[in-house]
Parts: sequence; structure tokens; C-alpha cells
Amino acid sequence: MDLGIRGKRALVCASSKGLGLGCAEKLAEAGVDLVMNARSEGPLTEAADRLRDAYGVEVTAVAADITTEEGRAEALSAAGELDILVTNAGGPPPGLWSDWDRDDFIKALDGNMLTPIALIKASLPGMMDRGWGRVVNITSQSVKAPIPALGLSNSARAGLTGYVAGTSRQVAPCGVTINNILPGIHATDRASSLDANVAKTQGISLAEAQANREATIPARRYGTREEFGAVCAFLCSQHAGFIVGQNILLDGGGVNATL
Ligand code: NAP
Repeated sequence: MDLGIRGKRALVCASSKGLGLGCAEKLAEAGVDLVMNARSEGPLTEAADRLRDAYGVEVTAVAADITTEEGRAEALSAAGELDILVTNAGGPPPGLWSDWDRDDFIKALDGNMLTPIALIKASLPGMMDRGWGRVVNITSQSVKAPIPALGLSNSARAGLTGYVAGTSRQVAPCGVTINNILPGIHATDRASSLDANVAKTQGISLAEAQANREATIPARRYGTREEFGAVCAFLCSQHAGFIVGQNILLDGGGVNATL
């Protein structure tokens, strides 16, 4: 299917690895010019070079912490007139409700709620003026089915979800859509580190922790970054203009709910 977005310009945050990279790659495949971002320069440059060579699109790499004001300014300035924004950043650490104090919450809110909001706010005016735009936020299945050990993530993602619900409906008349994709478990470094934490606390091997988790997913496997990126690219396509303010769960059936 031609996604109808060849020649558009996208900023894909936190995209040297994992789900962000999956989104960047599927957008590149659809002919979208990219600004990719991550903190560590080496893997970012490698990923950017690979996508530029494979898909013949323009790719600019901005090595910066997207959760800082300077990092966001750098990424936005490299992006210029943006058509597509994919927000993403590392997730907060797991723990117990009693582990976290105000500073931990501020850090989580900054990374997973206030950073995407700042990026959205900076990108919307241009998209609205030009009458077309797509914003996709990578959040988590924890928005629909909170994960007890991820209290910081549950809190921050819920805040972003509330913001998107209202904002998406305010900007839809201008041809701009905002939606969230909610990953269940996907095979990325983040999943390995969550599994390593489970293995440590339960005194089992990493392989056992993964097998136990796979057994809880109806699809009996982890998702892939390619599957995730394909859904993101579709939400950014011409075909998805009527999808507004949705929370789309990609979880292999893990969340047992009808709505
Ligand atoms: P990942 O494999 O660990 O990749 C994270 C990517 O983000 C890397 O490219 C990393 O590069 C970059 N990054 C992290 N913090 C950044 C920052 N402050 N500024 C710029 N770049 C940053 O993680 P993932 O699995 O793709 O997860 C992406 C998001 O989805 C996370 O918020 C995670 O909590 C959420 N999520 C993931 C899953 C899953 O199963 N994978 C499930 C639910 C939710 P650098 O380290 O070089 O910056």
C-alpha cells in the first residue's frame, strides 16, 4: 500500500534502537525524510546511515537528550517544517510504590509526559498552518492495564493520555491527527532489562523470565519493532486522517478487555 507520505518530513525521537527505530525505518521505507534522535552518538549514527543507504531518504541524526529543553530545541531546529512527529523516550525504572519520592515523579513526568507535550506544542502551529500533520506518541499498555511495578510509568503515561484526548480534538479541524500507540511487550533492550529485573527478584534465569512472560500473552511471543513501526507509519499515512485521539494497543492480546 502506498502510504502517500513520500517527501514528508518527520522527527522520530529516541530512535537509534527499539520501537523508535522501528517507526523511523517504516517511515523511511514510505519515503519520509527523517530527523532521528538518541543520546549516544555511535548507535544513532549507525542507524541513521543504515536507513539513508537502504531507503534513499534524507536522514539527519541529532544526538541529544530529548527530555531536556536544549535537546528538544536542537531536534526541533534540525527538523524545521515538520509534517510528522513521533514522540518517545526511555521508560522510567520499575520499583515499589514506597520507593519513589517527588524527584523520581518529576523525572518520570518530565520524560514521559511533559517532553511529548512540549514537542507537540512546538510542532502543532506549523502543522495547523499547513493544514496537515500527524503526531504519534509511544506510550504503553500500562495506560489500559497498569503494571504494578511500573508506577512511575503508569502515572506519567496517564497524564499524557489525558492531554492527547483533549488536544487531538482541538486540532483535528486543521487536518492534524494525534494518536497514541500502546506497546505491550516487544523484543527490545527495554524488555530485556525488565526481564532481567524479574529474573533477579524471582531468582530465576533470564530465559525463564522471558518464557514465563510469553506464556501470559495470547500470541505466545513478544512483538517486533517492525510490526510496531508499520502501525506507526500507517497512523502517519494519508489513509489515517479519520483516526483521531485513539489509544491503539499492540500487545498480542495481552490485555484481556473488550474496549
Ligand atoms: P529501548 O530498546 O531501550 O530503546 C530506547 C531508545 O530510546 C534508544 O534509541 C535510546 O538511545 C533512546 N533514548 C532513551 N532515552 C532517551 C532520551 N532521554 N533522549 C533521547 N533518546 C533516548 O526501548 P523501547 O523498548 O524501544 O521502548 C521505547 C518506549 O516504549 C519506552 O518509553 C518504553 O518504556 C516503552 N515501552 C516499551 C515496551 C517494550 O516491551 N519494549 C512496552 C511498553 C512500553 P540512547 O540510550 O542512546 O539515548
